[in-house]
Amino acid sequence: MTIDDSNAFNKHLTPKMNIPQTSSKSSLILIVDDDMFMRKILVRYLERERYRVVEAANGMEALKIYQEFQPDVILLDAMMPVLDGFECCLQLQHLPNGDHTPVLIITALEDRESVDRAYEVGASDYVTKPIHWAVLRQRVRHLIEQSCLRQQLEAANQELQRLVSIDGLTQVANRRCLDEYLDQECKRASREQIPISLVLCDIDFFKNYNDNYGHQEGDRCLQEVAQAISKSTNRPADLVARYGGEEFVIVLPNTNAQGAMNVAIRATEMMRSLKLPHSHSKVAPYVTISCGVATLLASQEFEPTALLKAADRALYKAKAEGRNCVR
Ligand code: GH3
Ligand code: MG
Ligand code: MG
Repeated sequence: MTIDDSNAFNKHLTPKMNIPQTSSKSSLILIVDDDMFMRKILVRYLERERYRVVEAANGMEALKIYQEFQPDVILLDAMMPVLDGFECCLQLQHLPNGDHTPVLIITALEDRESVDRAYEVGASDYVTKPIHWAVLRQRVRHLIEQSCLRQQLEAANQELQRLVSIDGLTQVANRRCLDEYLDQECKRASREQIPISLVLCDIDFFKNYNDNYGHQEGDRCLQEVAQAISKSTNRPADLVARYGGEEFVIVLPNTNAQGAMNVAIRATEMMRSLKLPHSHSKVAPYVTISCGVATLLASQEFEPTALLKAADRALYKAKAEGRNCVR
């Protein structure tokens, strides 16, 4: 995270923000208290503990600074003007990641109602003033740990999500991802009464390629083909997936037959222009693909298997009628 004290947003904040210009990866704590003296003591103490800190004088400012700096932990006073700590904590839950950012309420309020309310609005922990510093130190350390673990877990989950959707060899979507996407898009097409198309691409004489150049070269060829097919699509909703072996699928939501034919023709041309040598192909001295195109119109039943079957029939035709072509 880069923190820049000089931008326009920071300048109009009432309390001068104390943002160390350091590249260290120490955790960032947002201190929210209307009592400037209290803030200064907390800042000094936490900086001595090697945390970075930002400050806010009330709940409203805290929400702004939170969005700007995404602190790892928030130390929040309860009683403040403009927007109090409870209301601030409640509103924080609706901001991006807000419900994952640990909030430690620091307050002079000790009654049961206040403590209950703090946890109800989403606080992670509660300490009372006057501050018992040894306790605060451990509570903060614990919350920072919790925040770090959650961030690591989120990153791991994202990577896992990527890994389960991607074909390891070609880096395009895998079969699992294709099945889910096709199902979802067929349902959408049916709901919105829009067409959906599919292109099934198959490398010509690829068995000969493997037999002649070896399996490793075959793998490299598959990567090149995946890249070329990917380049032939334009829209964000278009999905290229490895269907299996040397077959790829392009899902084209909201695309009619002519549009899908154009994409398929672009893919075959893209392959031809690559001119990857294939001396054992019977159609050309380089690697080519054949494509089968199918479209479900708004009036038809939207079934992923029907679409795949139709594309497979078209591909069979392309193979039978000479390969290196689109049907
Ligand atoms: P056609 O023009 O009719 O499509 O003939 P073809 O030889 O391409 O078709 P066939 O289905 O007979 O052979 C497909 C070959 O694809 C067989 C297999 O060796 C190869 N293949 C499938 N998956 C992989 C892979 O992951 N890596 C490599 N290197 N080859 C693969
Ligand atoms: Mg095949
Ligand atoms: Mg083939």
